[in-house]
Amino acid sequence: MAEIRLEHVTKRFGDVVAVNDMNLEIHNQEFVVFLGPSGCGKTTTLRAIAGLEQPDEGDIFVDGNRVNTLSPADRDVAFVFQFYALYPHLTVYDNIAFPLKAVKAAKSEIQERVTEVADILQIQGMLDRKPSHLSGGEMQRVALGRAMVRRPKAFLMDEPMSNLDAKLRVDMRTELKRLQRRLGATTIFVTHDQVEAMSMADRIVIMHQGSLQQVGTPQEVYNQPQTVFVAQFMGSPAMNLITGKLQSQTDLALDSGDTPEAVLHLTDTDVRFKLSAEKISRLGLLDELILGIRPEHIIVSNEPIEQGTSATVHLVEALGSVNIIDILLGENRETGDLIILRARTHPAFRADAGQSIWFDFDPNQVHLFDRHTERVIA
Ligand code: ATP
Repeated sequence: MAEIRLEHVTKRFGDVVAVNDMNLEIHNQEFVVFLGPSGCGKTTTLRAIAGLEQPDEGDIFVDGNRVNTLSPADRDVAFVFQFYALYPHLTVYDNIAFPLKAVKAAKSEIQERVTEVADILQIQGMLDRKPSHLSGGEMQRVALGRAMVRRPKAFLMDEPMSNLDAKLRVDMRTELKRLQRRLGATTIFVTHDQVEAMSMADRIVIMHQGSLQQVGTPQEVYNQPQTVFVAQFMGSPAMNLITGKLQSQTDLALDSGDTPEAVLHLTDTDVRFKLSAEKISRLGLLDELILGIRPEHIIVSNEPIEQGTSATVHLVEALGSVNIIDILLGENRETGDLIILRARTHPAFRADAGQSIWFDFDPNQVHLFDRHTERVIA
C-alpha cells in the first residue's frame, strides 16, 4: 500500500483556482477524508492524484515517486466513483473480473482473485447475478470489489455513497471502514457530509475555496478548529460565533485581584466574558475578536447563576434526545440581524419562548479567533 504526498499543488480552470497551493502527506494504510462544501476543490484534488487532471503547479508523489507525468493507469491507484456504477449486462463475477480481463490476465488468475475478493466482501453467493438483482449495499460491495481486484496501492473514492438512502449510508460507513482496516488500504474518501467524515476518517482534510483549512483527527478538527470556517463547518448545530471587543478591567472597574484580567464584550449585547490570564497573554495587541462556543458547552439555568448572564429565550426546539434553546442576546446595529446564542440541553430541561434564562460559558471550551484573519488565537 501507499504513501501519497502533495507538494504545492495548484490547479486552475480559467480564472477559477480549484486547488490552491495544497501541501499534504497521507500515510500508508491511512483513511483520509476530504471534506468541504460544494466547489471547494475536493474532487479536483482527488482527480489530480489519480492522474485525471494535470496540476498547473506542484508535485504529486506516490511512495516517494513523482507521478506527475504518469498516466492514470500507471499510477496504480483505483478511482471509485459512485458505488452504483456497475455494468448492468454483466454478472457480478464479470463486473469484478472486468479490470483484469481488460489487461488480459490469465483465466486462472482472474478466477483466483475474484474468489478472494468475493470472500472478503462476503458476496460469494451472488457471483452469477446481474446488478439489477442486488440491493444497494450489495451493489456497493461489488463496485468496491471491482476496484479491489486490481490490488491497487490506494483507493480514491469520490462521494461513493451519494446515491444510497440514508439508512444504507449508515450501514455502509461501518462496513467500508471495517473493510479498509482489513485490507490495510490507503484510502482517500471525498464527501461533503461531516458525519460521514467524523465516523470514518483517521484524519480529515477540510478544504474551503481551494485551500486547505485544517488537517487532523476528527477529534482535533472538532475540538481545536484552527479557523472560523472549520469551527462553523464542523458540528450541528454549528458553533456559536459572536464578535466582541476587548475591554480592560479598569474600563469596567472590575475587581482585579493580583491576576491581570480582561473582559470580552460581545458586540451589541450585554454579555461580558472574563478572559483568563493565560488567554490574555496570547492576544497581543488585538482588540476585536470572535468568540466561539459550541451549543453543548453553554451552561443554562432557570435560576440565576453566579457570574452568569440573563437573557430571553427566543425559541425552543425539542428534538427528543436534546433541546436546542435559542437565546436572544441582542440585535446587530448595522444589519438589524438578531444575535442568537444556541445552547444544547438535556431534554428534561424546560424552557419556553419569552421567558428569562441564565447562562454561562464553560471557560475551558471557549475558542477565540482573530476577527480579521479568522484564525484561532487561544
Ligand atoms: P462538489 O462537492 O460539488 O463535487 P468539489 O469540492 O469536489 O465540489 P471541485 O469539483 O473540485 O469541487 O471544483 C472546484 C472548483 O473548480 C469549482 O469552482 C468548479 O466549478 C471548478 N471546476 C471543476 N472542474 C472544472 C472544469 N472541468 N472546468 C471548469 N471549472 C471546473
